[in-house]
Amino acid sequence: MRLLLVEDDVTLGPQLRASLQQAGYAVDLSTDGVDAEGLGDIEPYDLVILDLGLPKRPGLEVLANWRRRGNKVPVVVLTARGSWQEKVEGFKAGADDYIGKPFQVEELLARVGAVLKRSQGVVVGPLTVHGVTLDEATQSLIGENGRQESLTGTEYRLLRYFMLNPDQLISKSRLAEHVYDYDSDKDSNVLEVYINRLRQKIGPELIQTKRGQGYVFSSKES
Ligand code: CA
Repeated sequence: MRLLLVEDDVTLGPQLRASLQQAGYAVDLSTDGVDAEGLGDIEPYDLVILDLGLPKRPGLEVLANWRRRGNKVPVVVLTARGSWQEKVEGFKAGADDYIGKPFQVEELLARVGAVLKRSQGVVVGPLTVHGVTLDEATQSLIGENGRQESLTGTEYRLLRYFMLNPDQLISKSRLAEHVYDYDSDKDSNVLEVYINRLRQKIGPELIQTKRGQGYVFSSKES
């Protein structure tokens, strides 16, 4: 899943980006409202974390502009602690959730994970789809016997994207756009190598190749 983090604080921004990357997200960091609004309109983000006090354009205006243009990307706003007015204004402008500053990064990760699942129509809680269970805390697979099998960072990001978008035809380019950040070399041929490694771990039949079109994560033969 690929996130846009909008935070102008020169310490907090890079810190949060690092924590989110560690949690297996591809993250683009934007430090002003105008840049963020443009990125949010162009790039296919799965979720945005939006600070409200931003240079050039306030976060609330950025959010309201996205919603007016029909941009439905899930947004978690960062509000001043204890400011119920900011929370209300955030929800009115179209926020999906909020977190008051200062916060523990674990709480942000929990909220981001829950909003992502809700937005994809997946039950909030441990992620089990088509018999595969993913432990998001340890970024590993849980086998039927409860045994954990570790995943590399890219394997984890790919598998989570498939599991949050089951039974959908997903093109290679879409996959690359959602598991790599803006600055990464989005070589979709390399993805094939990772997908083959994933098949060795979850069984060969769940990730089906549709020749010339992409992949489907499904338990049904088609
Ligand atoms: Ca700020």
